[in-house]
Amino acid sequence: MQKSKSSAVKRSKFRKFLDTFCRPREYFSAIRLILPTLDRERGTYGLKESVLAACLVDALGMSRDSEDAQRLFNWRRGGPKSGANAGNFAMVANEVLQRRQGMTSGGLTINELNDLLDRLASSENRSEKASVLSTLIKNTNAQEMKWIVMIILKDLKLGISEKSIFHEFHPDAEDLFNVTCDLKLVCEKLRDRSQRHKRQDIEVGKPVRPQLAMRVNNAATAWKKFHGKEVVAECKFDGDRIQIHKNGTDAHFFSRNFLDHSEYEHGMLDIIIQNILVDRCILDGEMLVWDKSLNRFAEFGSNQEIGTSRFSPYVAPYCHCHYVAFDILYYGDTSVIHQSLKERHELLRKVVKPIKGRLELLVPDGSLNNLRHPGEPCWSISVHGLEDVERFFKETIENRDEGIVLKDLSSKWEPSDRSGKWLKLKPDYVRASSDLDVLIIGGYYGSGRRGGEVAQFLVGLAECPAPNTYPRRFISFCRVGTGLSEDELDAVITKLKPYLRKYEYPRKGTPSFYQVTDHVRERPDVWVESPEKSIILAITSDIRTISSEVFAAPYSLRFPRIDRVKWDKPWHECLDVQSFMDLVQSSNGT
Ligand code: ATP
Repeated sequence: MQKSKSSAVKRSKFRKFLDTFCRPREYFSAIRLILPTLDRERGTYGLKESVLAACLVDALGMSRDSEDAQRLFNWRRGGPKSGANAGNFAMVANEVLQRRQGMTSGGLTINELNDLLDRLASSENRSEKASVLSTLIKNTNAQEMKWIVMIILKDLKLGISEKSIFHEFHPDAEDLFNVTCDLKLVCEKLRDRSQRHKRQDIEVGKPVRPQLAMRVNNAATAWKKFHGKEVVAECKFDGDRIQIHKNGTDAHFFSRNFLDHSEYEHGMLDIIIQNILVDRCILDGEMLVWDKSLNRFAEFGSNQEIGTSRFSPYVAPYCHCHYVAFDILYYGDTSVIHQSLKERHELLRKVVKPIKGRLELLVPDGSLNNLRHPGEPCWSISVHGLEDVERFFKETIENRDEGIVLKDLSSKWEPSDRSGKWLKLKPDYVRASSDLDVLIIGGYYGSGRRGGEVAQFLVGLAECPAPNTYPRRFISFCRVGTGLSEDELDAVITKLKPYLRKYEYPRKGTPSFYQVTDHVRERPDVWVESPEKSIILAITSDIRTISSEVFAAPYSLRFPRIDRVKWDKPWHECLDVQSFMDLVQSSNGT
């Protein structure tokens, strides 16, 4: 399938595979291996490339310093001989495995593979995982193992869409999956391709694939598409899309990838039970984090931290989950997705009793609009002309950062649809064209193995120094944690450790040469006591720079990564704010 070029040939190979090797009652066993991202029966393996590399090294009994182990750990870079496979973990693993496994197939059956993958997912620690991988390695050859690695990483690179696989399997498979998100059920119900399946409606307790937004480049295009229609414009939030399924005293919080986020139950369950005034319903909306100390939404990324209690102890008491409901899909005992958005808004108003900062309504006259700071735009408005769209977009971008969503009030809600019932308008992307050399000014403690140890850094830009002088102040710029290997991170921390001083709330002890804001998300756990003692990091970010409320610099980066440690660059050669602004301006819109 992977090698064939055309989609039609790929599809026919898939069909041949099913017809030749699978009995109809075993379709699920096979299809879950081909569409691993849609399989919810097994849970997660907890194996991203770096952990998988460590487990494979153990499973193969290699020394961590050996050339092959290093090749696996540095799979992005590729070893001296693996340039071609750099960045493709399965291919790098294949190279390493080829030197250790025979050519003959181990004869593992689909069912045996599924059993071993179940064991891999349920094993709790690395050594158990390594032992399952070792059994897999003993029963396969390198090529088979390469595919198993891709299944574990949930990316088979087959060059065929999930849609085509569904269509080849059964004409109603995609529809049924969209409203149940249950691959097992789809494979079991639709065994006979010639038998059509009655369209199934959504149900409380089964996640539905969300209605999506089509991207448009400017307000005029958006307005043209909605010509003559009644339209609402809403702020595009940057949290987690969550469907709340309420059933009596029970509630589920399903994310976009159909996972039930039970961590949101904590604190939210009672609110949902008491303030959603119907026994059974499905709400659609965004889960965000509300910062009580600032009376506003916390920065993107906070959800993960609140979910896993990863907030530093200074931040935790101020933040909690906040659900913004913008749609209703099920009410009482019927689905309401076929009603117009206008009617659904009416139902929402009837069903949701807003609770400030915990549960709010995103509709034009909804409760969320009351949560504005003076001078800020509404979160949701009815628009009557292009000027309204332009103004709302401009104001939203100036005050918040994600963009806006426009919705046709006469439209139905359709699972997995991106045909243009909702349009999203986002600001231009700005790409950092080169590395940014920034100075470490503080640190945040990590969790797990890094508990009590600095795992992320607060980095700063230099205030523009007078000619021929060193910078005297550093302005907080962004928080960055990923990119370095464990060893590199350890080396940086060992070097900084003697100069780290505990941050004391509220501001006590903030060295005068650092400029920071009062935002809770910014507060580091420790400061570097003086810039001369610190280290420069080269960071990159291929994602849009955002205007910053959290950090003191006028812009911050989204999803920054540490590219490398600039051991030989002196602290005073840190990028200054003006040079950074020039960089933003020169790359704007590219
Ligand atoms: P993006 O990366 O731009 O968020 P996406 O592919 O994740 O895009 P889209 O369908 O393009 O998803 O945009 C819809 C997403 O935007 C939703 O999944 C939801 O998480 C988020 N969102 C934020 N605010 C709203 C809103 N007011 N209405 C609908 N979706 C919203």
